[in-house]
Amino acid sequence: MENTERLRIAIDGPAGAGKSTAAKRLARELSIDYIDTGAMYRAIALKLIREHVDYNDAEALKELLSETDVDFRDGHVLLDGEIVDKDIRTSAVSRMASDSSAVLAIREKLVALQRAMGETKGLVMDGRDIGSNVLPDAEYKFYLTASVHVRACRRSLEMIEKGETADLDSIEADITARDLQDSTRTHHPLTQAEDAIVVDSTNLNIGEVVEVMLGHIRSRR
Ligand code: C5P
Repeated sequence: MENTERLRIAIDGPAGAGKSTAAKRLARELSIDYIDTGAMYRAIALKLIREHVDYNDAEALKELLSETDVDFRDGHVLLDGEIVDKDIRTSAVSRMASDSSAVLAIREKLVALQRAMGETKGLVMDGRDIGSNVLPDAEYKFYLTASVHVRACRRSLEMIEKGETADLDSIEADITARDLQDSTRTHHPLTQAEDAIVVDSTNLNIGEVVEVMLGHIRSRR
C-alpha cells in the first residue's frame, strides 16, 4: 500500500479482544511500527512492584516516574533499558497495571510519550484510549470487541498452551471486572471514539479481523 509513512491507526477495545495480535499483524502488512500501550502501563506496574512504591503516595510516585524510562526497541519492551517482555506478563503485573493505570500522573507521563511517538512516524497503536485521547486525529480508528465468553475462552487456551491451569469461570469474572474498571475510571476510560469502526471478533479469527481492517483502509485510500 502506498504512502504509509505517516499513517496512524488506533485500535482500542476491552481486554482479550485480540487487539495486540491484530495490531501487530496489521503493522507488519503496512510496514509501519506497532506500539503496545498496555505494555507501557505494565512496565510502570512492574517498577512499582519491584520498588515497593505505593501509587497512592503522590510524592513517591512522582519521584519514581521522573526516574523511569519506557521504550520499545526491535519489538522489545524496555524499562530503564532492560528488556522486560516476559516480566510484564505475570498476573501480579496485570492486576497492578489495571489498578495503577487509573492514576492521572501515570497516564499523563505515558500519554505524552505515546503522542510523541505518533508525531514522527506511521504506526499502529493499541490500548483503551488511543482513538479517544492519545491520537484523536488518527487516520483510522478501530474498536475491537468480542463477547466476554469468547474472550475468556481465548485467554484460557493461551494459559493452557503455556502449561498453566485455567478456570474458565474465574477468567470470565476477571475479564468482566477489568472491563468495568477500565471503562468506569475517571481519567481516559476505555471508550469507543465516535468515529471508530467497530469490529466484533466474536465469530472472526485473527486473520479475518486483519482482513476486515485492511479492507476499510484500502477502501478509503
Ligand atoms: O492491554 P493490556 O491488558 O496489556 O493493558 C494492561 C492494563 O493497562 C489494562 O488493564 C488497562 O487498565 C491499562 N491500559 C490503559 N490504557 C491503555 C492501555 C492499557 O489504561 N491505553
